[in-house]
Amino acid sequence: MNSKAEKYILVVDDKKENIDLLCAILKKYGYNYLTAFSGEESIDIIDSNKNIGLILMDVKMKGIDGTEAMHRIKEKIDVPVIAVTGFALESDKKEFMSQGFDDYISKPIDIQSLNSKISDLLQ
Ligand SMILES: [Mg+2]
Repeated sequence: MNSKAEKYILVVDDKKENIDLLCAILKKYGYNYLTAFSGEESIDIIDSNKNIGLILMDVKMKGIDGTEAMHRIKEKIDVPVIAVTGFALESDKKEFMSQGFDDYISKPIDIQSLNSKISDLLQ
């Protein structure tokens, strides 16, 4: 069995249309996924489901933002987290990596680039 089919990708975003788009891409490539609409919900899911192999984390969210949620999750489990960000400046991208994200992808999402990052990082 393909290992990517056994693990779930957790998609975290506070906008439903962003979640829908990301999930459509994941479905097209045959990945299993779960969704969370806030940083708080993403942490709850991590607490109740240890079968998460990768997280796609929106950075800008109300309440616990993506960076804070990433830090709290990485205190609990060793899982790669890709920042999903509207920022496009090279300096911003470097900042996300230095904060502890494993990779980043800019909106609008490039489907092939996203799939390649997922293939590289999915545990
Ligand atoms: Mg957002």
